[in-house]
Amino acid sequence: MENRHHDLVVIGTGSGNSVITPRLDHLDIGLVEKGRFGGTCLNVGCIPTKMFVLPADRVVEAREAARLGVHVDGVRADWPAIRDRIFGRIDPISADGEAHREKADNVTVYREPARFTGPMTLDTGTGVTVSADRWVIAAGGRPRLLDIEGLDHVDPERGVHTSDTVMRMESLPERVVIVGGGFIAAEFAHILDGLGSHVTWIHRGERLLQRQDESVSRAYTEIAQARHDVRLRTTVTGARHDARGWTLTTTTEGGEPARIEADAVLLAVGRIVNTDLLDVAAAGLPCHEDGRLVVDSFQQTPVGGVFALGDVCSEWQLKHVANHEMRVVKHNLLFPESHVESDHRFVPHAVFTHPQIAAFGKTEQELREAGTRYLAYEQQVGDVAYGWALEDTTGFCKVIVDPDTRQLIGAHLMGPQASTVIQPLIQAAHFGQRADDVAKGQYWIHPALAEVVENALLGLD
Ligand SMILES: Cc1cc2nc3c(=O)[nH]c(=O)nc-3n(C[C@H](O)[C@H](O)[C@H](O)COP(=O)(O)OP(=O)(O)OC[C@H]3O[C@@H](n4cnc5c(N)ncnc54)[C@H](O)[C@@H]3O)c2cc1C
Repeated sequence: MENRHHDLVVIGTGSGNSVITPRLDHLDIGLVEKGRFGGTCLNVGCIPTKMFVLPADRVVEAREAARLGVHVDGVRADWPAIRDRIFGRIDPISADGEAHREKADNVTVYREPARFTGPMTLDTGTGVTVSADRWVIAAGGRPRLLDIEGLDHVDPERGVHTSDTVMRMESLPERVVIVGGGFIAAEFAHILDGLGSHVTWIHRGERLLQRQDESVSRAYTEIAQARHDVRLRTTVTGARHDARGWTLTTTTEGGEPARIEADAVLLAVGRIVNTDLLDVAAAGLPCHEDGRLVVDSFQQTPVGGVFALGDVCSEWQLKHVANHEMRVVKHNLLFPESHVESDHRFVPHAVFTHPQIAAFGKTEQELREAGTRYLAYEQQVGDVAYGWALEDTTGFCKVIVDPDTRQLIGAHLMGPQASTVIQPLIQAAHFGQRADDVAKGQYWIHPALAEVVENALLGLD
């Protein structure tokens, strides 16, 4: 076994890869990656899912166009063409990123699963054990599986998938069961149904997207129930595969059994951080109960010279958070005398379902439980002019403010382009603007969809 010492070792090429900037060209850097270069977001996460959501949107919009007096017949999605177009774009970006690092004089790329074997000593799995002056751990997470025979490992040949494999399926299954009630399950329910599968959706909880504000979770659950075969308060108890496909057995909270037949199963039951496989305990790095690395607001672990960023340590498993933390780590590596802190005050997120969902800050149920005083107002999309044009019946924008400062403490939107429509509210919260100033101190284009935000803020009066 060869031993090597680097100035800096980065584990993970998702947001971790972007830490390596030309300003670090004077350093001897080790870069460790076992999977596809570019990490989750580029290869199996945000980017391909949203590229699949768009054609699914087009199909659903074609169906919905009838309510506008437009009749579209014979809509058909071509799964192999969509899949090949998407990965035809993504795979070369991943390959180019890898080639770029491979040819850099100061970067050594290690392409195997790595594991700590002692205090900040990493077996790279390539026959080289490395140590370093400074470290960046950006090892992300992976999909959780079920502890049920047949569903305890990914098996694309027999149609058992997680988000890591489902987007590269050879063909679209006629019948698919999705297990899980979070945002990954929701986005794939839209994608797979939109592109032509029949979706049965199993979730243990009483509502889908339960971590969202209760208005959103309730409204979204109703929409999903109208579109898919949704089985709530239901648990998968067994799975059997034969020549006809999968038969899942389930039971409800009340103990009622059922059997569901399917050609494919998508497990979307949460994610686990990769600290176990990396054996961070051997390195002396402490973790939270859920496995995330402990870091302070400067993204430093308690071990000197070791930074972490993104899903491996973050409370928010989101790419824009991983990127924000990456910028903080990059600064703190470059300027050890003037460290900066991460800003996690108003972290927004979106769920690219149909309709879209977007939110930041506290939910009403959290505020109620904490006994915090607040003012909330919910504006329906269908009651603003652009909503009339859209014939929207389900969308809304809920704003929540502190009654004393009139500053935003949360916003919860559902409706067309919610992920974009929410941005002025994120901006207002971030810069401490008062709801009334945001509503009345600027023009809002009439009759644009953003008027739903203007009216929600005015409604707080
Ligand atoms: C289906 C899906 C959809 C998503 N959609 C969105 C979205 O719309 N918006 C959003 O903000 N977020 C989304 N996310 C979350 C987002 O993808 C992640 O938050 C983000 O990619 C995390 O980046 P990261 O750099 O922390 O980790 P990753 O990008 O996961 O990078 C970690 C890298 O470390 C490597 N690695 C791990 N352990 C080892 C080891 N022992 N040895 C060698 N290499 C190792 C991995 O192979 C991986 O490439 C989505 C996630 C999924 C799964």
